[in-house]
Amino acid sequence: MKTILIAGGAGFIGTNLCRRFLNEGNKIICVDNFHTSKKRNIGKISSENFKLIEHDIINPFDIDEDIDEIYNLASPASPLNYQSNPLQTIKTNIHGVFNLLDLAVKHDAKFLQSSTSEVYGEPLQHPQKESYWGNVNPNGIRSSYDESKRCAESICLNYYREYDVNIKICRIFNTYGPYMDPYDGRVVTNFIIQALKGEDLTIYGEGAQTRSFCHVDDLLDGLIKLMDTENEFTGPINLGNPIEFTISDLANKIIEKTDSKSKIIYLPLPQDDPSQRKPDISLAREKLNWQPKITLDEGLNNTISYYNDLINSI
Ligand code: NAD
Ligand code: UDP
Repeated sequence: MKTILIAGGAGFIGTNLCRRFLNEGNKIICVDNFHTSKKRNIGKISSENFKLIEHDIINPFDIDEDIDEIYNLASPASPLNYQSNPLQTIKTNIHGVFNLLDLAVKHDAKFLQSSTSEVYGEPLQHPQKESYWGNVNPNGIRSSYDESKRCAESICLNYYREYDVNIKICRIFNTYGPYMDPYDGRVVTNFIIQALKGEDLTIYGEGAQTRSFCHVDDLLDGLIKLMDTENEFTGPINLGNPIEFTISDLANKIIEKTDSKSKIIYLPLPQDDPSQRKPDISLAREKLNWQPKITLDEGLNNTISYYNDLINSI
C-alpha cells in the first residue's frame, strides 16, 4: 500500500485517479481548493483510505504522515477557467509547484507534474515531439496557462538537478471522460451537454481546427506507468491519443451518437486558439510500452452515458 498525495484530486483527472488508486488498495491524500471542481466528484468516495485536505497550494503546507508519491494535477485546465482567473492560474503553477516540490524534498517522494500540449502553443511542427520547443504567445490570453506550465517544467527539472527529486513530467493532450465539470467550457463536455439538451452546438471558428482526444482511462495507465519509470527518467513525455479529428467531426459524431435534433452554430474563434494538435507518442511507446486503447467512438459512448445521468441528477 502506497500513500499518494494528489493535488487537484477533486478535478476531472484527479477524481478518476483517486478512484483508481483507492480500488487498488492505496491510501490517498487529496489536496484541493475546489477552484474549478465541485465537491460532488469526490463526495461519493467513502473509504477510510481517503483523506481530503481543503487547501490552496499557492500557500505552503505540511503533511504529518509519510508520502510515497505526489501527483500534481492542481491547475485550472479549461481556457474559460484560466482566462477568468489568469493571475491565480500563474500563482498555482509557480508558487503551488514550489510548495509541492518542497513537500517532495521533505518526504523524499516521487513527483509527477501534469504539463500540457499547450507548451507547444500554435505548433509549427506536426505532430508534436517532446524535442519541439513550441511557438507560444508569451502575453496573449492563453499565456497565463501556457507560460506558467512551461515555467513549471523548468522548476521541476531544476529541483531534479539541485535536490535530486525524482521528477516525472508528462505533457497531456486533450483528455475527456467522466467527472469533467460539465460547464467548464471544454469542447467535449460543451457539445455533449448541448446535444443532450437539444441546444445549438457552438463551434468556434469554422471547425477545421484539430485536436486528438484521449479517454481518461488510457491517460491514467500512462501516468501510472510514467511514475514507475527509473529515477533517471524525468520526461517530458507526451501522453495523448495520436488520432486527430477536426472540431466539426467531433460535433457531428456527438449529434449522431445522442440522436439529437440540435443544430450547429458558428461563433468567433478565440484569440490564439491552436489550429492543430496531435502528439507524437513514440517516446511513450518506447519508454512506457503505452498507447491509447480506447477509440473516440467507445470513449464518447461511455462519456455521453455519464453526462446523461449527471444532468438528470443535478
Ligand atoms: P480540472 O479543472 O478538472 O481539475 C483541476 C483541479 O485542481 C480542480 O479540482 C481544482 O479545484 C484544483 N485546483 C486548481 N487550483 C488549485 C489550487 N491553487 N490549489 C488546490 N487545488 C487547485 O482539470 P483537469 O482536466 O482534471 O486537469 C488536471 C491537470 O491536468 C491540470 O494541471 C491540467 O493543466 C492538466 N492537463 C489536463 C488536460 C485535459 O485535457 N484534461 C490537458 C493537459 C493538461
Ligand atoms: N471549441 C468549440 N466549441 C466549444 C468549445 C471549444 O469549437 O464550445 C473549440 C476550441 O475553440 C478549440 C477546441 O474546441 O479549438 C478545443 O477546445 P478546448 O477548450 O476543449 O481545449 P483546448 O485544446 O483549446 O485547450
